[in-house]
Amino acid sequence: MSKEIIGDFVDIARQLEEQLKFYREIGVADIGGSARAAETATGAISVAGPAQETVEVPVDAGNLEASRVEELPEGQEAMPKKTPPVEQPALFGDIAAEREPRAKGAQIPIIQPQDVSLEAIREDLGECIRCKLHEHRTRIVFGEGDPHAKLVFIGEGPGADEDATGRPFVGRAGQLLDKIIASIGLKREEVYISNIVKCRPPGNRTPERDEVATCEQFLFRQLALIRPQIIVALGSPAFQTLVRTKEPITRARGEWRQWNGIMVMPTFHPAYLLRVPEKKREAWEDMKKVRDYLSNLVN
Ligand code: URA
Repeated sequence: MSKEIIGDFVDIARQLEEQLKFYREIGVADIGGSARAAETATGAISVAGPAQETVEVPVDAGNLEASRVEELPEGQEAMPKKTPPVEQPALFGDIAAEREPRAKGAQIPIIQPQDVSLEAIREDLGECIRCKLHEHRTRIVFGEGDPHAKLVFIGEGPGADEDATGRPFVGRAGQLLDKIIASIGLKREEVYISNIVKCRPPGNRTPERDEVATCEQFLFRQLALIRPQIIVALGSPAFQTLVRTKEPITRARGEWRQWNGIMVMPTFHPAYLLRVPEKKREAWEDMKKVRDYLSNLVN
């Protein structure tokens, strides 16, 4: 066996060891199925909610009923239910209609005619100076990952490491996020990761209202283009911006919400989990719901 192959094995073993350590930390003894293990998933959840049409509409919690895990007598296995992907018909507005004069109060389509790719949205963002965050930033952190991802993670804003590299979630919180992603059987490259604001708020403060208001259109356009099945909102700012609510993450976490017909799972921000590790267990519960939802999609 060549040295290279042995090196690869050692790397894989190290990664596995890290991941197992993470599972132990969050008190998980039985990992169960992964997002890919659709056929073996038990205790399946089935969530299907009517698509909402604009970001302005507050989320309807009515369809959350369906998201509860079925209670079965001990020993009895639930039949995995296949969840059809949530239909997202007029999700992002009718681009053609956008060219007509808009009636007062009419819904503003999220996607812009020029948004043919994530690169095009990035180009439109340019060397942004739309808000004061540009004054202290080193690099814009647009987001990265699979442009066709079924799962998107949204954080608050870049930190120091992200500002230096131009990549989202690459610092300590990012390393924990990588483990969280791996815990549901996915790789970082298979999801998409971005933030509410694309420039680092000085001293890692929470982005201010005007900064979010200026920047959020780019995130919304990214999401509109990717059209994931699930958005995981990491922490209050991400959750509150997406769902248009003042509800804190401590109350909302673990409950399905929606953004324009796309399922949103609010959960704790990895930076918070680093400070309060005992909350990892709850985050794991939230991620299991994400994993189960993904594994029950029809395709
Ligand atoms: N925290 C965030 O919210 N986003 C990042 O990209 C990094 C840390």
